[in-house]
Amino acid sequence: MKLFGVLGDPVSHSLSPVMHNAVFKALGMDCEYHAFRVSTENLEKALYGASVLGFGGLNLTIPLKEKALDIVKPTELARQIGAVNTVDLKEGMVGYNTDGIGAKMALARRGIEIKGKNVLLLGAGGAARAIAFELAKDGAKVTIANRTIDRAEALVKDVIKIGKAKASGFEDLKDLISDSDILINSTSVGMYPKISETIVTSEMMHKDLVVFDIVYNPQNTLLLKEAKKAGATTIDGVMMLVFQGVESFKIWTERMPPVDIMEKAVREKLA
Ligand code: NAP
Repeated sequence: MKLFGVLGDPVSHSLSPVMHNAVFKALGMDCEYHAFRVSTENLEKALYGASVLGFGGLNLTIPLKEKALDIVKPTELARQIGAVNTVDLKEGMVGYNTDGIGAKMALARRGIEIKGKNVLLLGAGGAARAIAFELAKDGAKVTIANRTIDRAEALVKDVIKIGKAKASGFEDLKDLISDSDILINSTSVGMYPKISETIVTSEMMHKDLVVFDIVYNPQNTLLLKEAKKAGATTIDGVMMLVFQGVESFKIWTERMPPVDIMEKAVREKLA
């Protein structure tokens, strides 16, 4: 039996165990995935412990993603993003960030190209960092709009080393949206329990817009409801969650997991 897990604090809400255990079962693999509550102070001990115990791989969540950079060997992308969400324990401890790839794959699955597209990214926190780097690396023109503009400016300073990005506050959102092909909400606005909040409403959108909300609880956020009213294409946060898990699974096992089974497990758990 091989063990896998997610470390975090809090961690009991994590959907990763249900998602990965569904895959192990479907593929008949003798593996189990569990959630472990680990504080930042204990992260190093926990990582070395998992390594000597022969764990197959780990995910990291709040508040451990940044601290891990000091302990594991990060990939160049994880270092640029400033956070690790996946640790491979096959040879030493290598840290990856699969959140941005998860977002990119969620768009790709719906046939949405990002090269040359104007993307308006709301937010400049951890998830926004991962998405901004991944999309800019692949040729999108990314405008990062954040409530605290200093954070957007700081992120742009990093992202322009690898691609096209500019910063904004929330004042000109309507104009920015009319120039955008894709709008991504990577703020926590609209997340349970504050489900009646949205930064953007239907009259600010247009029907050729793709609206991707990375918030997955609820699955149908107020932003997505507003986008549907405007006739825009909508993508919810579940597929980003699933695809970051797909990438982690590939890193650990070098196998392609069944995406539909992962999606079903997550949607059932959320429902
Ligand atoms: P974070 O690092 O704490 O960043 C939070 C962001 O939301 C910041 O940009 C913050 O702006 C903004 N924000 C918070 N409250 C706001 C408000 N009332 N008005 C305007 N902006 C507000 O969080 P994170 O880790 O990036 O996560 C953000 C969201 O993405 C969460 O809901 C999380 O569950 C979700 N997420 C989803 C996935 C997925 O796989 N689907 C993956 C990761 C995260 P300021 O800088 O101004 O504070």
